[in-house]
Formats: sequence, C-alpha cells, structure tokens
Amino acid sequence: MMKPRNQKIVVLGAGSAGLAAAWELVDRGQNQVLVLERASVVGGLLASVEKNGNQFEYGTHVFHTNIDSLRDRVKSLMGERLFEFDRMSKLHIKFRDKYFRYPLNGMDIVLSLPLHLSLHCVLSMLYSNIAWKIQGREPANAAEVLRQRFGDKLYEIFFKDYTHKFWGMPCEELDKLFSLERIPRSDIFKIVHDIFEKLGLSNLNIGHPLAERAIGKLYYAANGIHELTDTMAAHIENNGGKIETNTRLSRICLENNTTRIEYFIDGKQESVEADYIVSTIPIRHLIPLFNKPPDREVMEASDRLQFLPLTVCGLLVKRKPIREAFCTYFRELIFNRLSEPTNQGLRTVPEGRSILLAEITDYSLQQYNVKTEDEIYHAVVKDLVRENLIREDEIEDSCVFRYEEAYPIYHLGFQQDIAIIKDYLRSLGNVFTTGRQGNFCYVNTHIAMQMGIETTMEIPS
Ligand SMILES: Cc1cc2nc3c(=O)[nH]c(=O)nc-3n(C[C@H](O)[C@H](O)[C@H](O)COP(=O)(O)OP(=O)(O)OC[C@H]3O[C@@H](n4cnc5c(N)ncnc54)[C@H](O)[C@@H]3O)c2cc1C
Repeated sequence: MMKPRNQKIVVLGAGSAGLAAAWELVDRGQNQVLVLERASVVGGLLASVEKNGNQFEYGTHVFHTNIDSLRDRVKSLMGERLFEFDRMSKLHIKFRDKYFRYPLNGMDIVLSLPLHLSLHCVLSMLYSNIAWKIQGREPANAAEVLRQRFGDKLYEIFFKDYTHKFWGMPCEELDKLFSLERIPRSDIFKIVHDIFEKLGLSNLNIGHPLAERAIGKLYYAANGIHELTDTMAAHIENNGGKIETNTRLSRICLENNTTRIEYFIDGKQESVEADYIVSTIPIRHLIPLFNKPPDREVMEASDRLQFLPLTVCGLLVKRKPIREAFCTYFRELIFNRLSEPTNQGLRTVPEGRSILLAEITDYSLQQYNVKTEDEIYHAVVKDLVRENLIREDEIEDSCVFRYEEAYPIYHLGFQQDIAIIKDYLRSLGNVFTTGRQGNFCYVNTHIAMQMGIETTMEIPS
C-alpha cells in the first residue's frame, strides 16, 4: 500500500496524456489529484460521438506500443476488453486508380507510372541525393527534405499536391521536421537512402523517434477506443482522484506562495489551489491564462503554435465490409482518409453494419466550397458513390463532427517557439506542459501517455 501524499496536483485536459498522468499520480498515492476537462466527456482525440448506440470516432484509432511497461499496464487495466487484431495489409492508399499497401512503398509508386516517368523518377532521385551532398547545405524546409530524399520528380508527382491539400499550405512553409517525422520509412526509399548513406552521399536522418507510426501489435475495444480512456478515468476516480468535465479555465493566478486556478463549471466560478499543474491542453491555450502575462516574446511564440482542425463525416452503412482495409488514404477526394473501424472489431447497432469515417481537413472543405454539416455529408457521399464504395440508399445513419486541435502545424521555426515557451514555464517551477498538445508534436497515444507519466516524475515527492 502506497503512503498517501498530499500535494495538490491539477491536471489540465483529460485526453490520453492527462489521464495517464493522473493515473500515475493516484497509483503513486497522491490523494489530491484534480483533472479539469473542457469537453463533456473524457478522452480527447480518443473520445467518440455516440449516435443511436453507435460510436463515431475522430478517424482511425488503434492502440499500439513498443513500451512494454505501458502495454502491460494498459492490458492489466483493460483485461479482455482490449483485444489484438490482425494488421496484415490493412492500410491502403489509392494512387493512380489503384490501391496499394500503406506505408507507401516507393517501388509501388514507381511501378505504377509509365516506364519513361519511372526512369525519370529514379534518375532524379539519384541526381538529388548527389547534388545535395555536393552542395553541402542542409534543407531549409519540408519541401527541400522531400526533394533531397526523393528527387524533384517524385516530389512533384507524389508529395507536393497531397501535402498542400492536407495542410492547406505549400510544403515550403512547413518545417523540415515535418518531413522527417511524417514520411514513412521501411520501403524502397529507405533502402536507397541506406545505400547513399553507406556511400557517404546522404547526411539526413530518415525519421524522428517520436513520429506517429504504428508499431507492434494493434489493439482495439469492441465499443471503440474510448473504452480505454473511460476505464482510465474510472480508475482515477476509484482511487481518490477527481475529474471535472465541462469546465472553462479562466485564469491561473501566480501569487507569492500559491498557484490558484480559476474556472467555470455549469456557469459557476470555482477556484482551486495547486502545488503543481500538469497541463496537457494546447500550449496556446495555456500561456494566455496566467494572471501575470509573460513577456511579449512568449505570448507571440504561443500564438504562432497553431493546429489544423479535423472534420469527420461518420456513416452507418448496411453492408459489411465496404473495403478490406481498416483505413485507406485518398488523394483526389474530399476526404484524405477513410477508416472502417468495424473491420477492426467495432460493434454496431444493429449488427452487420459498417461504420465509415471520412477525415477531412479545412483546405478540402474550402476547395469543395462546403461549410454546413449537410453540405459536407453530401460531398462525402457523392465521392464515395463515385468511387463505387457505397450506394446512397445503403446509408442508415450519419453525423458530422470536428476536433479543433487535431494536428500541430509545424510552421518554419516552430521549434524555436516551443523552446521559448518551455524556458518560460521552467522559470515558474511548478507548471509542466506535456502530451501531444502540450509538447506540440505528432505522437501516437502511447507516446502521449508515456509523456504524461514521465512528466509526473518531475514532481518532487
Ligand atoms: C485523426 C487521428 C488519428 C489518430 N490515430 C491514432 C491511432 O490510430 N493510434 C494512436 O496511437 N494514435 C493516433 N492518433 C494520435 C492520438 O490521437 C494522440 O496522440 C493522443 O490522443 C493525444 O493525446 P493528448 O492527451 O496529448 O491530446 P488530446 O487527446 O487532444 O487531449 C487533450 C485534452 O485537453 C482538452 N482541452 C483542450 N483545451 C482545453 C482547455 N482550454 N481546458 C481544458 N481542457 C482542454 C481536450 O478537450 C482534450 O480532452 C491519431 C490522431 C489523429 C488526429
């Protein structure tokens, strides 16, 4: 039995990172842990929208990890509700009218092109790697990383427009870390890259250790991935922690010897003292909350840390499956990805149905000139029908919903902005920022959770 500890710890945000932090704290015997969440439910990106007994998630969501201690902990919390499912060939991408396995296999792309174009791509890749080496200059942005690694031709054919469509900005305006983290490895490009590296012709790191990438076994729960965060929340509350949803943070008062958090719940103002704050909310929400505003440099850095929202159109379709993949990427439709969580074991009401989740970013909404839920629904259905994936009369239910802070936008120089903010928070001594939103990084659930857990280790016991 852990010795009770009485530090007052307030966790901001009840997504994977915040709940993992609070879980760790209550398990370590902290008995004054309070979690404040803006939404009406816990889970953050792992939450879902329930409609007529069906769960519509924020796009594809499966749990996986290469951190053994975390996997064991999650499995022992969830028991049999978390099941493993087969991942073989279940991620696809549509390119030039054909479906390919995903992550992209460079050879598939090259072979799908006419012979002269394939040759052009290969030569351009060779030329780029050598030319960049001779220049001896570091790429300055995401586009240059891609041109250096894949050559100008493949960049033009494959990456340029898709990246623009997804992010709504040219690749030149994204930091080079974007390409290092988000472009998958383990394919022909990696092999070519390794050869260049051995010949001393490349000095580029091919991926970031924290990048979003599915590793190891994949796990899911029959009622959706929110079962994981719901169970974490129940564990926290059963062990003395408290979670308040529907809160609106109004101020963090830094006073001589105390830190106080003011917030509204059900329209009523509340105030709570904290020895430590573990924040997992977007940094740009945290910084303006302080009663003594930080320097202008910090405020401006926080303002620049913008997120890309994600709109999801969920459909219940009376046929199963629609595709074999649990997730397919599309380059020419309104949605960039179509998930089918029923292929990984999601239950439906009634049974035997498919749930489709079409993930759409704002640039596509603008291009299609659709704003209202109804317009979005019709644009998605039109594209699905045109792709011969469904017929409109097969749709039994639908919903359209949105997550404002889905993807951190790695603008040029964003790492400098994060460093400025972290320096400021360090100077406070008792406010930590962590998780995907708090660290402003693309990470998967298990890394966000691990970040939350590790941040609690900075709290002296
Ligand atoms: C479309 C998509 C698909 C993904 N698929 C996978 C996958 O298959 N597998 C995987 O491992 N990872 C996946 N990820 C990544 C995963 O969702 C995230 O890494 C993880 O959910 C991040 O958890 P978090 O707690 O850091 O952030 P969040 O989940 O965003 O949690 C932050 C919480 O803070 C709350 N909050 C925000 N502002 C405030 C405020 N002002 N006051 C109070 N509360 C606030 C939010 O409501 C939220 O609950 C995916 C991400 C996306 C966008």
